[in-house]
Amino acid sequence: MFATGDGTWAAVDPGEAHPVRQFLSVQEATLSHILLTHHHHDHIGGVAELRAHYPAMVVGAEKDQSRLPPLDLPVNDGQRIDLGGCQGQAIDVPGHTVGHVVYLVDDVLFAGDTLFRFGCGRLFEGTPEKMWDSLQKLRRLPDDTRLCAAHEYTLVNLQFACSLEPNNQALQNLLKQIFQQTDMELPTMPSPLAEEKQYNPFLRADDIQFAKNIGLSGYSAEHVFTSIRKKRNSF
Ligand SMILES: [Zn+2]
Repeated sequence: MFATGDGTWAAVDPGEAHPVRQFLSVQEATLSHILLTHHHHDHIGGVAELRAHYPAMVVGAEKDQSRLPPLDLPVNDGQRIDLGGCQGQAIDVPGHTVGHVVYLVDDVLFAGDTLFRFGCGRLFEGTPEKMWDSLQKLRRLPDDTRLCAAHEYTLVNLQFACSLEPNNQALQNLLKQIFQQTDMELPTMPSPLAEEKQYNPFLRADDIQFAKNIGLSGYSAEHVFTSIRKKRNSF
């Protein structure tokens, strides 16, 4: 959820309607937009009920609209979205699914199941090459962009990153910090994109030192990416 700046709220990927309705009722506010990143049920399950209760505009990828709930605003790569009090932009990032989009709203990146903190989504439909392209697109966003992914897979992702580079002391320090946060049941996002660029193994597939550290010196970025994505599937 985020405040649009004009007194209304927007929901991103409402898998369930109930928590959104409860939140809005406490705020005594209405829902003006629903932004959908992709068609998986845990991202769209609440849309029909929310539409029945609020005058919310549903936004999603035009190229995937046959699998999404009815869209009021189908969007394409780079399209600007007027959210009332703020501006958003859709970015096409195929890989997890072929029609996956993410949304940049002011400085917050709603990354769905494409980019997680220290990780990336599984490749259900796209090729590793497509996902690597998509992740490079997100890596080009400003360092101070704040990452808001759809799932809190932070701890296991970071444990995986540490398993790849057991001698990386910075990763070990981050792991301590994330253990503390998750022990206290605190959210680990939003977090700065700069940190992802530095520590997320899936954004470092073209980093020569990283390839060397994981025994893949001299291989292409696509090969390194494919190899670590495979390893993560069985971690
Ligand atoms: Zn998904």
